[in-house]
Amino acid sequence: MQELVKHQPNPRGRRWLYIPYDQVTDRIGPLSRENPNNLGIVLVENPWKASRRPYHKQKLAFILANLRHFALEQVQRGVAVRYVVTRGPYRTALEAMGKDLGFLQVMEPAERELRADLQPLQKAKALGFIPHEGWLTSGDEFLAGCGETPPWRMDSFYRHMRRATGILMKSGKPEGGRLSFDKENRLPWKGAPPAPSLPSFPRDPVKEEVGRLIEQTFSHHPGRLDLDHLPATVSDAQRLWDWAKMNCLPFFGPYEDAMSTRSRGLFHTRLSALLNIHRLIPENILSEVERMKIPLPSKEGFIRQILGWREFVRHVHLASDGFRQLPGENPPVAVVPGDGGYRQWSGKPWPSSNSSKDPDGGAEPNVLNCRIGLPPAYWGAKSGLSCLDGVVANVWTEGYSHHITRLMVLSNLAALFDVRPREITDWFWVAYSDAYDWVVEPNVLAMGTYAVGQLMTTKPYISGAAYINRMSDFCRDCRFDPQKNCPITHLYWAFLFRHEKQMSNNPRMAIPMRSLGKRGKALLKKDRAVLETLQKLLGTGEEVRPEDLSEI
Ligand SMILES: Cc1cc2nc3c(=O)[nH]c(=O)nc-3n(C[C@H](O)[C@H](O)[C@H](O)COP(=O)(O)OP(=O)(O)OC[C@H]3O[C@@H](n4cnc5c(N)ncnc54)[C@H](O)[C@@H]3O)c2cc1C
Ligand code: SF4
Repeated sequence: MQELVKHQPNPRGRRWLYIPYDQVTDRIGPLSRENPNNLGIVLVENPWKASRRPYHKQKLAFILANLRHFALEQVQRGVAVRYVVTRGPYRTALEAMGKDLGFLQVMEPAERELRADLQPLQKAKALGFIPHEGWLTSGDEFLAGCGETPPWRMDSFYRHMRRATGILMKSGKPEGGRLSFDKENRLPWKGAPPAPSLPSFPRDPVKEEVGRLIEQTFSHHPGRLDLDHLPATVSDAQRLWDWAKMNCLPFFGPYEDAMSTRSRGLFHTRLSALLNIHRLIPENILSEVERMKIPLPSKEGFIRQILGWREFVRHVHLASDGFRQLPGENPPVAVVPGDGGYRQWSGKPWPSSNSSKDPDGGAEPNVLNCRIGLPPAYWGAKSGLSCLDGVVANVWTEGYSHHITRLMVLSNLAALFDVRPREITDWFWVAYSDAYDWVVEPNVLAMGTYAVGQLMTTKPYISGAAYINRMSDFCRDCRFDPQKNCPITHLYWAFLFRHEKQMSNNPRMAIPMRSLGKRGKALLKKDRAVLETLQKLLGTGEEVRPEDLSEI
């Protein structure tokens, strides 16, 4: 902070912008093209926001260290910086600032929660939204690709965007003859090629200062703080991107769906947290990847994530108003943020100071009417299921795990356990450094738990042990045998039976539903009993052992 004061230019006569915590870049917006000497920015550090949910310590450190570094970078460019610490909604700090600085502009925040917070200022004309230049696609392009009314499909949006942008297209035809190489990209990983080790980033006084703040003020938050793996500067972000280009992208495609105990990230790039706060700019990433000389299935697979999935989920979130506006009946909305199962695990309520004037806790769609709380196993209590325990341990170690572990272990098991979708969504929101409402809600409520039905996916992403065993080495060290006594397979059948009505008119579920029909009463009874036993044991934080299930 002393550095900030030392370099502060004369703040008079400038145009002032508010820069939210997830727009820490000068490569887009007015900061990218206007004379720094004519601009001033307001940055808000907000312990109230940090305390609203039990966020992972590493996530808090990531946001604070990037914000503080960004303040220093801008002041050194000649931009005037007002850095304020507030303990309440952002609008309270900005309202006070506005009295001094005049009208503020902000690129439209990505998070709905922040937009809702700022709305009164917008209405009072003290703050104006300008377009957010970090997105690759517009609302019109989403409508052109997907149509106005749901269901919305990523494939059709992606096909439209490939044609509209010409990316990986030659004379109107897709490179390699196909728009998607998804089918090739499903190999398990057996140890070769070797998976890269994680890059580290230099420590500096700002990171050390943030580390001390986290340990003092946020010591009750969960997760491990690791300053050596905290990218917080422009050069850290570049270092991660260089590492990803060299080590991950050439093998990205084939092992995209693989999982392993020997590598937490395999060939996934770990760019999401930096992309979501705009330390890395999607447009730059995309154009570099397009020019790279790497196998086409890897190139196309990665481009599909950035141009397709990432943009698509954001549009779905916007178009459904954060899943508040759904076909048929709108779901209830939580008055205050959920704790993601923190209380069930710790036995204590999360000490937050939410009031009814604060932004709400998000929509609670639940088409499958799932009813139980999130088992403490998601917070680190051992469950005895190697796949779950291994991935959960990784998440609390670094605030990250890759896509397939999120989808086919964490949200799959939550859906099979019958966990309330909002609760597992809130868990993802607090546990991952890359989670913000616009991205975590579509991924968990829609893709991971099927809580909004077929709004953006055709079927639930669920599996038994066979898939996990095929795509990972998790089962090797497990006390259960995926072919004999793994409870996950029983939970899978119990799920299909429980939701038979919703699944049986879904053509994509025809094959498993036919198999369910042949399963016989005794096995179905056993599936149900295994589910109840797991719900009981894991619900109280106990481990499950093969002998707990052998009598069933
Ligand atoms: C249950 C669940 C929860 C998720 N929660 C989040 C979240 O909170 N924040 C988040 O950024 N992503 C989330 N995702 C999407 C995806 O898993 C992560 O973006 C990805 O794992 C980030 O790791 P990576 O950077 O190594 O990704 P890579 O595999 O290297 O992919 C490259 C990039 O593609 C983008 N991407 C890929 N898939 C998606 C997707 N479905 N949605 C949005 N972007 C995507 C990300 O920006 C990612 O960095 C979630 C997925 C699931 C199934
Ligand atoms: S055997 Fe079952 S519980 Fe164990 S790791 Fe495999 S899928 Fe998970």
